[in-house]
Amino acid sequence: MRATTVFNRLLDLDGVSVRDVDLDDPRKVVVTVALRRRRLACPLCDFTTRAAYEADRRVLSRWRHLDLAGRTLEVVAKLRRLVCPTHKVRVEAVPFARHRSEFTRDFDCLVAWLATKMDKTAIGRLVRVDWATLARRHLTPSGLVLYDLSGSWMEGRTCPLAGHGYSRDGRRGKAQICYGLVTDADDRPVAVNVFGDR
Ligand SMILES: [Zn+2]
Repeated sequence: MRATTVFNRLLDLDGVSVRDVDLDDPRKVVVTVALRRRRLACPLCDFTTRAAYEADRRVLSRWRHLDLAGRTLEVVAKLRRLVCPTHKVRVEAVPFARHRSEFTRDFDCLVAWLATKMDKTAIGRLVRVDWATLARRHLTPSGLVLYDLSGSWMEGRTCPLAGHGYSRDGRRGKAQICYGLVTDADDRPVAVNVFGDR
């Protein structure tokens, strides 16, 4: 079986085909993908078009995906640009990552799930994400920050972060845990905190 076929099945990323796999660097795997859809989609609204802007000049984009056998997995694609009537010239959206995120949705979801299980210092070490660097890169003084607090119920009695309190899921009688997520104005997660029950 060809390496590209193996990685197509292994990654199972939405809407893309694997074109090349580079294993030369012992610390990382670089997978080049191409979007399957013909139409270009604006990353900020529902607008789609068949017309690419300066079609011969593509934008090289990279995302960090879930690690593979101890190596960092990087997804690379050369994206087209389009002209949206509202948002002007934009790099087309990809189905597997949020707009301007450096991580795939799978990676974002892993971090969000971990945030419900462990503190952010442990997450940072485990997935090698530096929260302070992320925040410095994506947040500007007096800029817009979006913050959401959520929670979940859990089984067991020994987690020091869980406690009894208001259940957003309506699961009264179960231990609760609260977590907050900070994103920049484009919904990129830049910080996560687990507060325990409040
Ligand atoms: Zn748009």
